[in-house]
Amino acid sequence: MLGLALGDAFGAPYEGGILERALWSMLGTSNGKRRWTDDTQMTIDVIESLLACRCVDQNDLAHRFARSYRWSRGYGPGAAKVLKRIRRGEAWESAAVAVFPQGSFGNGGAMRAPAVGLFFAENSDADIARATRDVAAITHAHPLASEGAALIALATALACSGADNNEMLHRLSQCAESREYLDRLTKARAWLEEGEVVAPRQVAAELGNGIAAIESCVTAVYAALAFRNYSFDALLEFTVSLRGDVDTIAAMASAIWGADRGADQLPRERLEQLERRDDLERLAGSLAEAVGFREGR
Ligand SMILES: [Mg+2]
Repeated sequence: MLGLALGDAFGAPYEGGILERALWSMLGTSNGKRRWTDDTQMTIDVIESLLACRCVDQNDLAHRFARSYRWSRGYGPGAAKVLKRIRRGEAWESAAVAVFPQGSFGNGGAMRAPAVGLFFAENSDADIARATRDVAAITHAHPLASEGAALIALATALACSGADNNEMLHRLSQCAESREYLDRLTKARAWLEEGEVVAPRQVAAELGNGIAAIESCVTAVYAALAFRNYSFDALLEFTVSLRGDVDTIAAMASAIWGADRGADQLPRERLEQLERRDDLERLAGSLAEAVGFREGR
């Protein structure tokens, strides 16, 4: 969870084009600390809801998402519309369909999926995928969005259990359903077996670096696994150089990396610059306690 917030807050200044960057240069700090974006806010909402309800309660989640919504956290325009409708009292099911008749295929369901993977880490892969799809559905019901979210949640859960790259790619491929994801996972697996980290430009071209789930989820998995024996800063530098949707790709990759390496491997200087770090650590502690993770992981 701390990894996710760091990747989000330190990736955000590099996201998108000139206009987005100029806007974030004005919004990106708060009391001298690095602000995180919607990725971290929705992760907080998911964890608070799971801790309160002890299961996925879509109505509770929808209300938390809607209550926490602030335009200045960089929410996608579609998700913003859905959340404003829910805040006005509309049921989440009809709000989501009104804005996205086919369901959104963006990565907004995947960016909050590590939280689900952590909470359900001890459950079966199928149960993790099901819970994640339910959490994603409130704003991201398109099959490719919920499939990407399930992959990110499962990768986070497997990282917690110390699975190696081979095991992880095997289980992720078993969980994948569409040709689009399977092809990308096969490519990531081949690259990881070769050993050398692939150039960011090639990763962006072949796995993607966009706001669609299919253009970012396997990219984040690849980055996390390619850098699992490197420093957090090396991973961050790589995700920044992928360009595109940097905050979300960095958030997802850093969440998986953090679940693998543990909080004590995160750079202390960056944690000290992180907005509301104490609150995040408290919440992460409550989550660890609820799930029964052993100390330090
Ligand atoms: Mg964001």
